Amino acid sequence: MFTTLNDKLNAVFSKLKKQVRIDDENINEALKQVRMALLEADVNFKVVKTFINNVREKALGEEVRKSLTPDQVFIKIVNDELVDILGGKDYKEAKIKLNSNPPTVIMMAGLQGSGKTTSAGKLANFFMKQSKSVLLVAGDIYRPAAIDQLETLGRQLGCDVYSDRESKDAVKIAKDALAHAKKTAKDILIIDTAGRLHIDENLMNEIVRTKEAVNPDEVLFVADAMTGQDAVNVAKSFNDMLDATGIILTKMDGDARGGAALSIKEVTGKPLKFIGTGEKLTEFEQFYPDRMASRILG
Ligand code: GDP
Repeated sequence: MFTTLNDKLNAVFSKLKKQVRIDDENINEALKQVRMALLEADVNFKVVKTFINNVREKALGEEVRKSLTPDQVFIKIVNDELVDILGGKDYKEAKIKLNSNPPTVIMMAGLQGSGKTTSAGKLANFFMKQSKSVLLVAGDIYRPAAIDQLETLGRQLGCDVYSDRESKDAVKIAKDALAHAKKTAKDILIIDTAGRLHIDENLMNEIVRTKEAVNPDEVLFVADAMTGQDAVNVAKSFNDMLDATGIILTKMDGDARGGAALSIKEVTGKPLKFIGTGEKLTEFEQFYPDRMASRILG
């Protein structure tokens, strides 16, 4: 995760450290290199622009030049700005909003292959570890394999799975599952919806109608970090139509660049809530901007 970006930023910092005096010229040179490093990491160019402008504004102030350890002050400015674009310090948004009148309804959305079904299982595991009862719903009615996959996950977790292989009505399945969750006093209902290879109108219609039918507390968009800016653009299109409440970024373990992670919050305006860091059900973390910034800076 972030290996290249980490190396490059650290090279910029150590170069700065070697300077006898720090002036605007050194700072501008360092900023140029940070900018290059971010662009090479596939960070959205508008995000890079905002980032560099903000760092420049703070770094060219008296604080850096007057400090006895100007390179440290510069690193701190970069760190703070990273935390900001990742979601900010005061990051209460990242928590899943639990409904005081259970079940809390969570809808998963995303393209096929993004890791939606796996993340539904990971999320179920996350809540079950907190002693909450979970019902998983197989809402991808077009692919029997997706229903099988969710049922396998359910067996692995010891979690109930609601499915209806006869039905061709995803909206009704979600409604029936909600009624079932209420009847069986479940704390959490996680609805896995159908994924497609690209955004299409029928899929969006179905998800929008499902959302209207079950009035979810959370709509989580699942994006594959390895697809970089494509993940960001798809997240933005989904969000424009579906008004997601948060994002799960999967396959962070396979993403050496980090462009999606660093851009998705700024571009969509929606918080990153979880990251997937492997195929196993436990390879899943709640997202904290400050921890992520520390990983990036190493
Ligand atoms: P869906 O079509 O969106 O439901 O995607 P799946 O949940 O079936 O996942 C597609 C593939 O990605 C599977 O092989 C998963 O094991 C894998 N996958 C999902 N999340 C992660 C992750 O965080 N890291 C890695 N390395 N693989 C993942």
